[in-house]
Amino acid sequence: MSKSNNADTELVIAGRRKEWTHGIVNPPVYRASTCVFETYAQLRERAEDPGAKHLFYARKGTPTHWALTEAITELEGGAGTMLYPSGIAAVTGAMLALVKAGDHVLITDSAYEPTRSFANGLMKDMGVETTYYDPMIGAGIEDLFRENTSLIVAESPGSLTFEVQDLPAIIAAAKKRDIMVMVDNTWATPLLLKPLEMGADVSVHACTKYIGGHSDVMLGSATANERAFKRLQTVAFQLGQTVSPDDAFLGLRGLRTLGVRLKQHEQNALTVAKWLKDHPMVSRVLHPAFPDCPGHDVWKRDFAGSSGLFSVVLKGGGYSDTAALVDGRKYFKMGFSWGGFESLILPSNPAYARTATPWKAEGPLIRLHIGLEDTDDLIADLAEGLDLYKAKAGL
Ligand SMILES: *Cc1c(COP(=O)(O)O)cnc(C)c1O
Repeated sequence: MSKSNNADTELVIAGRRKEWTHGIVNPPVYRASTCVFETYAQLRERAEDPGAKHLFYARKGTPTHWALTEAITELEGGAGTMLYPSGIAAVTGAMLALVKAGDHVLITDSAYEPTRSFANGLMKDMGVETTYYDPMIGAGIEDLFRENTSLIVAESPGSLTFEVQDLPAIIAAAKKRDIMVMVDNTWATPLLLKPLEMGADVSVHACTKYIGGHSDVMLGSATANERAFKRLQTVAFQLGQTVSPDDAFLGLRGLRTLGVRLKQHEQNALTVAKWLKDHPMVSRVLHPAFPDCPGHDVWKRDFAGSSGLFSVVLKGGGYSDTAALVDGRKYFKMGFSWGGFESLILPSNPAYARTATPWKAEGPLIRLHIGLEDTDDLIADLAEGLDLYKAKAGL
């Protein structure tokens, strides 16, 4: 299929090759371990480049996987995409590929907590040192560079707290020193931000979230430019990273409708967030599309829109009081992995996952994922919970 610059068209056509689909629309789920060769010459030929798009051994991919990786690569730009069994496996797999013992890594202080625990755990044990940086640092990141700094791990907006980073400034500083930049792009999906086009080396997705989109699959991807892709691929193969073809199929199925789902998540989230902003129990709304969100101007400049995940800080009270808000909600279920069709609510204290920029807030932080339900129902559900919270916290 030919390429289109229009994302909605690209979502429909990307990764659809006749040789993979044999005249139907979607690639079949190729269940495989061994691939058999016609001749010794064919075996030799395929062994030369086992990452190429021909069958060699199913651990290195099948057409079901390639349809998804090719589609993500077309949307993100770059040289290629590797799949991982979860989003965090994509983050850690890419980090393992890009650093070696003795290196120094810079990670945003607003990073997804399991990314930090990998840096503070296995990375540290393997002799890689981490410094956490203020997500609002921009070009000032240069002051944190050391002789041995080899990688910056950015995530914009930040998990839980939603600071939007000046990625072009960070990337420009990194380029002067040949430091790799990896961006966890899960919140924006491949549609709202294109880190590789901005000059980043790797863009990671927890496909578990919006790409899968239906809360029924664990999956991760890392898309890289020419200089980083070979390293990603080599290390993924060395680690034996592989994804079931059923999961790759679900990722691809979700990706086809990402455009329409994301627009609805965006609209619904903006409606609910605006209502929350005026609610007497809400002190702050942490949503990149709101002017008081740190980095809002950068978001306006760099992003094509917003998704359905944001947080609010309540006016007062404590985390133990939040049970009154979150228990027994009709539509907002309590859970971690967002990006599905359903709304979620989660009290979460960023104080435990920050070191460079301590978190101070007037009340508990509540993270919300706004699903595809009717927003009148969602607002009524939150209104009831906030009334119960007010009584419980004595506000
Ligand atoms: C959820 C998430 C991940 C991890 O994805 P899993 O599939 O749950 O392992 C990584 N980064 C971000 C920003 C996430 O929200």
